[in-house]
Amino acid sequence: MRRLVFLGFAFAFLFGLFMTPVLSAKPTDIPEEDGIYDEPGHPGVKVRVFVHRERPAKPSTPPTLVCELTDPSSPAIVGKEAWKLPSTWTYNLNPSSVPASVGSGSLQTIAANGFNDWQSASGNKVHFARGSDTTVSRQAYDGVNVVTWGRTSGSALGVTYIRYNGTTGEALDVDTIMNSKFTWSWSNSVSCAYSSTYDAENIMTHELGHWLGLTDEYDAANYQNATMYGYGAKGEVKKVTLTTGDSAGAFAIYNP
Ligand SMILES: [Zn+2]
Repeated sequence: MRRLVFLGFAFAFLFGLFMTPVLSAKPTDIPEEDGIYDEPGHPGVKVRVFVHRERPAKPSTPPTLVCELTDPSSPAIVGKEAWKLPSTWTYNLNPSSVPASVGSGSLQTIAANGFNDWQSASGNKVHFARGSDTTVSRQAYDGVNVVTWGRTSGSALGVTYIRYNGTTGEALDVDTIMNSKFTWSWSNSVSCAYSSTYDAENIMTHELGHWLGLTDEYDAANYQNATMYGYGAKGEVKKVTLTTGDSAGAFAIYNP
């Protein structure tokens, strides 16, 4: 039986008209509950939160490499949110945060694989550039677009925070936090995955789709094979490769 969990949620920070974004490293105190909130200390700024909850856990078994996994494509076009990235977007990796079961040296390849897929899907309208590595392991409006493992207060597998100008749709700061509380692995394969663990590239590729402005899709009949399907599973790698519908969604955002 598949174990479904949420893949994460996106925080969308909406800047009101005439609002001048103020850079701040202070973490915001926003509940990890579905809803729309006021950003403390920033009048006019709204925070939209999507939470995907974990289903009850079953007893785990030692990871074993399972192969010949299927990766069906799907034509259903993934929907978009309200932000876009500029033509060049720099990301910063936190290798020191990576679980030993994945390996800190693997992060650059895992992230590059995901970013390259999405860059191609955009019709190369978005170029992802790797900036200097960082030790930042929390989300913040700090000009660092971090990909890191770290703590989240809830039970999200991954959390992606997108701060953007609510008037222009311009992305301002994007962070992905992979939840350190779960057991991670990396098969470096599109057909094999380690059972009873979450494949880092599988989940990260989904989270990076949010960076470009894609939403979560929950209609299993049409989207269960899409990278942007809102649920993930242990021992899953089919999100490592984009479906035609994932690519079409990203292409549509950057080639209107
Ligand atoms: Zn998601």
